[in-house]
Amino acid sequence: MRAVPLLGAIADDFTGATDLGLMLVNGGMRTAQMIGVPREGETAGDLDAVVVSLKSRTAPATEASRESLAALAWLRRVGCRQFFFKYCSTFDSTDAGNIGPVADALLEALGSRFALACPAFPANGRTVYQGHLFVGSALLNESGMENHPLTPMRDANLVRVLGRQTRGGVGLVAYGTVAKGAAAIEAAMQALADSGRRYAIVDAVSDADLLAIGTAAAAHALITGGSGVAQGVAENFRRAGLLTEAGSPAELPMPAGPAAIIAGSCSPATLEQIAAAALPTYVMDPLSGPDAATLAEQALLWAAEWPRDEPLLIAASAPPARVAAIQNALGRAEAGLLIEQALAMIAEGLVRRGMTRLVVAGGETAGAVVARLGVRRLRIGTEIAPGVPWTYAEGGAVPLLLALKSGNFGGRDFFKRALAKLPGAGGRTVQ
Ligand code: ADP
Repeated sequence: MRAVPLLGAIADDFTGATDLGLMLVNGGMRTAQMIGVPREGETAGDLDAVVVSLKSRTAPATEASRESLAALAWLRRVGCRQFFFKYCSTFDSTDAGNIGPVADALLEALGSRFALACPAFPANGRTVYQGHLFVGSALLNESGMENHPLTPMRDANLVRVLGRQTRGGVGLVAYGTVAKGAAAIEAAMQALADSGRRYAIVDAVSDADLLAIGTAAAAHALITGGSGVAQGVAENFRRAGLLTEAGSPAELPMPAGPAAIIAGSCSPATLEQIAAAALPTYVMDPLSGPDAATLAEQALLWAAEWPRDEPLLIAASAPPARVAAIQNALGRAEAGLLIEQALAMIAEGLVRRGMTRLVVAGGETAGAVVARLGVRRLRIGTEIAPGVPWTYAEGGAVPLLLALKSGNFGGRDFFKRALAKLPGAGGRTVQ
């Protein structure tokens, strides 16, 4: 039996990695997300795909390349045979990088001279036509992304955008070819490679296009794109008979024990989800204690008064006026850090008291919680909402189920859905 993964992926941010992981699970691949570059002796386990999540999207290009190469080296060591560089479906980058420089570095390390680039994700409204990226019906540079604080996208022509970031040439496989199917796409990519181009932006407006692109790239060492094109990559392995048909890839070990929700996101979606949760709720007052440890202790004292198996919600989340008042009193960055630390300590305290299922709302908050708990690896499980699965966290003191939600994700009933998903998740129980 094969005990090494087939696909090794490198994602340029944490929630993007989870999104890709979920896509691979839905494509039939047993998948885990590693938090940061794995350590020297760390193993991949018996999986079909591993996604290394980095925070490299807006790092300096040299640092992003170095981290990505370290991730690639580990993925090769554990036996992966094909590689995927995952970036955002809005191609978030600047003329300095990091999509071009990282892809250049990965190609060079793999001894390859060509890769496709396709950020399309039609289910989320991201399509590529004649090399131009659309968000819904708007061109990328008129979609709001032109005002992004870190990676403003002011040009929708991806052939030009990627061309400014790489030393290699960039060509286009246009929709007229893509519509003819995998063989035509493969021939067009080969022709571009033969003419010395290093990359092809490949048009895609539907999932069928993405599947055809995946088929055409079956023999490529490196594929780059959004999570959409990964559908086709998973399908290749299935067609080749390399995926196990036993059990569901979303099946997780299911530690017994109670659940809690921790919210540090102040997004409108999260505020609504808190209001709709109908759970015993503690709202932290960040001004009520001198430090994170005191704030955490107050919340944990409150939690101790409830029966052990009752789901609880602990939130720092607040509406904009309250957030502004707290930031005025403490400073914006200081308030953020204080609250993230307090929430992470609360997570640790709850786990120490036997909580085995945690929902965390907020990207930065989730990062702080995962770091505090010592989590190294998330096995990707069943989908709660688009882009948000339950995961089984390894590396901490005890086995734990985590659902990590970036602020704006999920509908009004997200917390209820998350808790309701668990009993039916079909995992085994580990006591
Ligand atoms: P999102 O995914 O919605 O961006 P994050 O967790 O990434 O959520 O970011 C939310 C930030 O707001 C965190 O740094 C968190 O500590 C901070 N925060 C949470 N509650 C408050 C509050 N009441 N006042 C000020 N800042 C807060």
